This record gives sequence, structure tokens and C-alpha cells, in this order.
Amino acid sequence: MNAKWVTVPAALAFAASAHAAVLPKHQMENNWYKDGQDQLVKKLNLKTGLKAKNVILFVGDGMGVSTLTAARIFEGQMNDKPGEEGYLSFEKFPYTALVKTYNVDAQTPDSAGTMTAMISGLKTDAGVIGVDEDVVRGQCDTVKGNQVATAVELAEIKGLSTGVISTARITHATPAATYAKSVDRNWEDVSDIKDEMAKDKCEDIASQLVNFEKNLEKRYLGIDVDGIDFVMGGGRRHFLPKDAAANSADARSEVEGDRTDNRNLVTEWQEKYPQGTYVMDQKGFDAIDVAKASKVFGLFNESHMQYEADRKNDKAGEPSLSEMTETAVNFLKKDKDGFLLVVESGRIDHGHHAGNAYNALNDTVEFAKAVQKAVDNTNPEETLILVTADHSHVFTIAGYPKRGNPILGKVVAVGETEPTKAADGKPYTTLGYANGRGFMDLGTETDADAGYGQDIHKDGRVDLSNIDTTTPGFHQEATVPKSSETHAGEDITLHATGPGAQLVQGVVEQSDVYHIINKALGLDK
Ligand SMILES: [Zn+2]
Repeated sequence: MNAKWVTVPAALAFAASAHAAVLPKHQMENNWYKDGQDQLVKKLNLKTGLKAKNVILFVGDGMGVSTLTAARIFEGQMNDKPGEEGYLSFEKFPYTALVKTYNVDAQTPDSAGTMTAMISGLKTDAGVIGVDEDVVRGQCDTVKGNQVATAVELAEIKGLSTGVISTARITHATPAATYAKSVDRNWEDVSDIKDEMAKDKCEDIASQLVNFEKNLEKRYLGIDVDGIDFVMGGGRRHFLPKDAAANSADARSEVEGDRTDNRNLVTEWQEKYPQGTYVMDQKGFDAIDVAKASKVFGLFNESHMQYEADRKNDKAGEPSLSEMTETAVNFLKKDKDGFLLVVESGRIDHGHHAGNAYNALNDTVEFAKAVQKAVDNTNPEETLILVTADHSHVFTIAGYPKRGNPILGKVVAVGETEPTKAADGKPYTTLGYANGRGFMDLGTETDADAGYGQDIHKDGRVDLSNIDTTTPGFHQEATVPKSSETHAGEDITLHATGPGAQLVQGVVEQSDVYHIINKALGLDK
């Protein structure tokens, strides 16, 4: 036997197979090897309770596995590291599962059906919110009798504090599924309901947010709830009347509001909650006194909030997702009975739809920061933190780039300094899309949606030899030309830490997320 081979200490032999009692010294001392042993010891020492006081559900909209991998490399490279070895904050959580995302009627899902599954415990059709599969999308008269309860509603009824945050419009599918019942995700305000009869019978989503307390008390006779305590996002246009006089200082359109029923839901909210705090810009946000505030409502944009990279260009200024999360957690944790908070990063999805990996990844990094804020501001023994996505995107990490190759760059192979050429003689980027608007070089542009003003690229491969693909405004090539890049149907991940996190394991249906929250908080008790 070679002198370099040593006997493995008993404690570590657990990891190797029982009969492999000797290993080369250089293997035992190898950092990858030692790290693997350390991870096992951590797992063996894990003690996880079952009952949580608080639950925070984070949803990265459109944050598939390829997005996680690319975003962790992107984050590492922003800190001058190769990147592959890093972890996004929540990737270090001890429990993970794979989640099947299909809707009852769709192989590849949309955010309405997926969030309804996560927050109500059952799968439903694509495009509908807070209702089961027995409805017909767009048919108002099918809502009755098919509405389902959400974890946010049950938490309210149980007397917990509740919060909903999104960087998308707060009436957009994912946040809406926490509080609204709608046979069409697009009925964000009354002007979106085209059928005149339906306008009277089916309440639009923005109105349902403001009437949440009243509607819930009507649905469950004898209960007394106080409404969602902390709400922040974009989408002001769905709350304001179609009248320039109602414009805010932040307005981008000539007439900011869309509502054709003359209602001003911001004013209505303020009348319902005279002690509440309404904010619409960074200044208002910074002035929130979490110790004193009794209810908080923030609408920071006419439509979606800005991409994190574009936030500096917002007219009146708006907070980041991590700032909103930190404030929400510190506000909600005043409640000794506990809280349920839902946080969505809505614009990872939008970056991908636009075919712009830079913004999808940059918003994923900001999302990971927001999760870290939640970890830093809560007690791990009493707070279950779940981090997941609703669905994936047709986003790929291709070729054989060498370690540390710029993730937004062209593929340069191991041992090479020049980009690898494809069979057409042209270099290609590591990141790409199976479909979408395709190649665009918008240079320093930080708004991914600026690409919608350009033609869809339909002419096959582009010679990228003299193009810097690492700029924020570069839009990756796409194989199938489409007006908008699409969701993908493969599984996404669910990461968990805190009491109840041990239930996150295996391959699960998306509706199981609700049941994990319910178990931890005892919502249906
Ligand atoms: Zn989407």
C-alpha cells in the first residue's frame, strides 16, 4: 500500500461506503472532498421543528433552474469571482424539492394557475385566479360556487398579520391570486372587463384588493378581519380614475388612471383605513415608521415597478425589492400572533419574455438579496421561509465555456482565448433562448422592455464577432422567432428553511406548497 493512503476516521467513514476504509491523503485533504464531509455533518446536526409562528413565501416569477445557475454565476462575477462555486442566498437553505408546474389544462403553465395552486392548495386552469377548474375562463357567471380560499385569507381569519409585495403590478396574476377571485387574470380594473353584463357581476381585481376585508367577511359569516396589513407594488393605473386630474407626480402617461367607473381606489382605501399610510415614491417609503404604522399601502408605478437596473431612472423614485421586504418584515413582526408574507419578484419573468438575460439575472440577484433580508430580520426558530418560482423559461446555458467565462459572454472553450465558432463559422453566446424576439444590441439600455420597440429578429444567426454581448442592452439570440419569449414546462425548485422546512423534499405538485404553509401555521384549524 502506498504511504500516501491513510485510514479514514470513523466519523468521516460514514460518507464513504463502509468498506472503503482507506483513501489517498491528497483526496482527504482536497477542498471539494472536505467540503462534502462538512456538508454531511451539518445535515446530521439539523434540528427542525414543525410549527412556525411566521411564514414568508418568496416567488421568483419565471425563475427556472437555468436562471438560478446563471444568476449565481452572474452574482459571483460581479464580485470578481469565477462564479460557478457560489450560491444565491436561498440555495444554502437545508431543504429543497422539485416542483411540477403544469396547470389543470396546460402542460406549460401561466402565473395565474400556478400561484392559485401555491396559495390555495389545488391546481386550476391557466389564466384564472382564486377559483377552481370548474370555471370557464372569461365567463363571469362561472365564478359563483367555484371560489377557493387562500392562505392569506385563512391567516387573516386566524388573526395573523398579512402582507403582499410585488415588483409587478399588484393586480398582476401572482400577487392577485393571494386576495382575488377572477375568471380572467386580465380583469385588473373595470375597463379590462369588456362584457357590460360582467362589469356589474364580476368585481375587477384592483377593487377586490381594496374591498378585501369586506368581501372576506361576507364570505365567512361571523368573522371579523382587518384586511391585508402591508401591500406594495406597481399598478397604480388600475386604482385611479381615467382623469388627468387624478395623476400622481410619478405619472408616465398623459392620463395615468385606467378606471372608467370614476372610482379612485386610493382614496377609498384611505377612507377605509384613516390611520393607514399610503405611499407612492421613495420619499414616502423612506418616511414609513414601522413602529407606528398600522397599515401600509404602496403603489410605486403606473404599471410594473422598474427593473432593478433601471430603478435609478424612475421619475419619483421607488424602493428595491429588498428594501420593501425588510420594511414589510419589520412591520409585520410586531404582531405577537405571527404573520404570513408573500413576496414576488415579478420582473425576472419580464426580462426573460423580452429576451434580455441581463435584467432577468440582475433581478434574480436582487430577489436573493431580498430573501437574505428576511433571513437577517427574523428568528430562524419561528419563521418558515419558502423560496420558489411559478414556472420556468426557455432559457439555456449552452456550449462548453471554460470556468469563469463571462456568463453574458461568448463561449470560449477550456484552454482557448478566442470564442468557439459554431458550424456556421460564427461565435455564439453561452446564454440563449429557444424562442422569442431574438438578437438585439441595445448597448447600455437598462430597460429590457425597450426591445419591444424593435423588430423581431427573423433572419437566423448573427455574426457576434464585433458585438459586446455583456452589456445590459444585449438581447440573446432565439431559435424560434416569437413576439415574446415563452414560459417553459420543466420543473422548478422549492427551497426551505425554518420550522416545517423538512416537509420540502422529493418531487411535488405545486399545490403542495400551500399544504406546507398550512401545516406550519395550522391555518385550517
Ligand atoms: Zn410570464
